[in-house]
Amino acid sequence: MLVVAALAVIYAGFVLAGHHAGYMSTHYCPVCGFPLDEPAWVDPNARGGGSQEICPSCDIQFGYTDHAGGDPARRRQLWREWRERWVADGCPWRGVSPPPDDYDPKRQLRRVDS
Ligand SMILES: [Zn+2]
Repeated sequence: MLVVAALAVIYAGFVLAGHHAGYMSTHYCPVCGFPLDEPAWVDPNARGGGSQEICPSCDIQFGYTDHAGGDPARRRQLWREWRERWVADGCPWRGVSPPPDDYDPKRQLRRVDS
């Protein structure tokens, strides 16, 4: 019983740390590479979908800003343009809440293919 409780505490710590720090996330913004709570698009080739989540780093809203008329190729182009603008602006944090302590836009950008 004690072991189960200990594991539960460890798991809760893992989930909380992953949520706040972000680095344990397996989902990334296709524009800027910032870790997301859920995939931006479960299927990037789908005509519709998108998580409706707003990336706190580059401010794109998946399924809305990048709906692209349901055209996946146009969507990728839109991601590139959004990224170019964001980089040209100096990779600013656009979230409402403050950025994580380890916010490093140059490093997270390496996760996306340009
Ligand atoms: Zn982003």
